[in-house]
Amino acid sequence: MRSTGRLSKTSGESGNTPAPNDAPLTAFDRTALERWLATEEIPPYRCGQILRWTYQRGATSYEQMTDLPAALRQELASRVPLHVPELEERLVSALDGTRRYLWRLSDGVTVESVGLPAGDRLTVCFSTQAGCAMGCAFCATGEGGFVRDLGPGEMAQQVMLVGADFGQRVTNAVAMGQGEPFAAYEASLGGLRLMNDPDALGIGARHLTISTCGIIGGIDRLASEPEQFTLAVSLHSARQATRDRLVPAMRNQSLPRLREALVRYTGKTGRRPSLEYALVAGVNDSPDELDALVEFCRGLLCHVNLIPVNPSTNVPFDRPPLDRAKEFVIELQRSGTEVSIRSERGSDIEAACGQLTQRHASSSGRGAAPSA
Ligand code: SAH
Ligand code: SF4
Repeated sequence: MRSTGRLSKTSGESGNTPAPNDAPLTAFDRTALERWLATEEIPPYRCGQILRWTYQRGATSYEQMTDLPAALRQELASRVPLHVPELEERLVSALDGTRRYLWRLSDGVTVESVGLPAGDRLTVCFSTQAGCAMGCAFCATGEGGFVRDLGPGEMAQQVMLVGADFGQRVTNAVAMGQGEPFAAYEASLGGLRLMNDPDALGIGARHLTISTCGIIGGIDRLASEPEQFTLAVSLHSARQATRDRLVPAMRNQSLPRLREALVRYTGKTGRRPSLEYALVAGVNDSPDELDALVEFCRGLLCHVNLIPVNPSTNVPFDRPPLDRAKEFVIELQRSGTEVSIRSERGSDIEAACGQLTQRHASSSGRGAAPSA
């Protein structure tokens, strides 16, 4: 084995090639790992072995990978170190068994995941970034700003560790934790591919959902990927002024352009995206807002998810009365659009994503974790 191979990292879109010791295993998706092994003249079947040890058996060091030669284990440990997130905090809902996790990553950054059990199903909501640069008005994550992108493996590890904590197979995973997946497209797709990979988590592509605040370039790219990943778009208003207020980073991507992208996406894939709509009292729950939403959805293949906004100390908004949400349901259904109200989970354990990080950062005095 040569020791001068170059690593190609997939995290982010910067395309920087890090120095040989700089990239942990979690910065690699399968393709990047295969490429690295080829450069090192290591047989390709080693890739499957490493992935299975890391993402199926939860190995915490290369030493545990006993079917790899000792020399290779040492080489990997020094060149492509394996880091596993540490559990910083875990909260369990007494109401519905939802579990919320705060992980500390190898560089001290913290991120959140949520496990949502429902009978035989276990859905994991994972983070794609520490923090988020988008600054949505009601989102505790956005408020804290952006910290860094996560590597594909750091996403897959969250899902693996939550599954292990439940002692249950993860049936669904959604990129609805912290971060905007399309702001780090390559890493997020790499994460989904590891989750989908039979040598890693083996979750069906249709059971893997990527949620975006509406980055059009990402929607177009996803439409041309070979896997049938599911798309969710956080719409929150079909009126430009209101959407600009709630999702300020998308000001330059107008609603008509977003709709056109959705039409292209459904035309190309035949798959139904969901439109997330966080109902905020006095902001996007008026009859005018409802009319605009009905018009936006008319003739569009989509499913609207109404989510009564999750208020917290950092989120100065209230949810409208349930009757208002029901009026939205009735009108949308009348116009032929599929719609549901997302049931609230884990409301006793600070369910709005980002709250746990923020509370933890302030209570522990660690200013280095502003990803709330
Ligand atoms: N950045 C991506 C995915 C992470 S956010 C996106 O915006 O889609 C996941 C979902 O949680 C989004 O639909 C987001 O709008 C929603 N969300 C964030 N804060 C919320 C809150 N306080 N109440 C309800 N939904 C919220
Ligand atoms: Fe970022 Fe999504 Fe929160 Fe907006 S809602 S700030 S895009 S995580």
